[in-house]
Amino acid sequence: MNVVLLGPPGVGKGTQGVFLTSKPGWTRIVTGDLLREAVTVGSTLGVKAEKYMSRGHLVPDALIVALVRDHLVNFYSKGNLVFDGFPRTEAQASELTEILALLENSIDTLIVLEAEDQALVERINGRRSCPDCNAIYNVHTSPPETSGICDTEGSTLIHRTDDKLETVISRLGVYKTETEPVIGYYEQMGAKVCRVDGNKDVGEVRKLVFQALGM
Ligand code: AMP
Repeated sequence: MNVVLLGPPGVGKGTQGVFLTSKPGWTRIVTGDLLREAVTVGSTLGVKAEKYMSRGHLVPDALIVALVRDHLVNFYSKGNLVFDGFPRTEAQASELTEILALLENSIDTLIVLEAEDQALVERINGRRSCPDCNAIYNVHTSPPETSGICDTEGSTLIHRTDDKLETVISRLGVYKTETEPVIGYYEQMGAKVCRVDGNKDVGEVRKLVFQALGM
């Protein structure tokens, strides 16, 4: 089964994606993490992408599609895939359909996590990330044991530039204009589309996501 997890920034796609891939046979493809790794190592792609990411804009389709295509070609194995943060435009969705078709595969289910803007702004602005293991904390709702320090790596947590208030507002606008049309694309393709209330607590959302996938 191949799944796309869609939803505005801060709605909890990452957390739910981790729940899914804790099951054997599931692989998660997280374009935000792949891009941040490229930025950290300073690759050509990373240098180009950083200009867009720091402003809360989408990285151009051609760059991100090439990244996902390379990743799938190198790491693809038959099993369950969950795409987190991709596709974010109709053009990306259509490219993904073509890439998966070459692998004799397709997207079966789109999970759309939904929440109000105000709740999302509060969540993201309180978010802190580990630069080494990408673990996410929240200063209000899920702080680390020691303030500012990753529980696993002991590294100093960072407030990502793209998690700062102005950028969050821009990212929410981009989600509405660029990414929401992806829902219509999958409806037309005949994929199963399930909307899940992302305001509920994490465990409840997990239950709803697993139910939607018949797990
Ligand atoms: P995320 O952690 O998924 O919110 O991604 C962080 C940033 O990476 C986004 O704000 C975009 O600038 C960029 N990004 C991640 N995935 C994509 C994508 N599929 N298309 C374009 N830009 C992306």
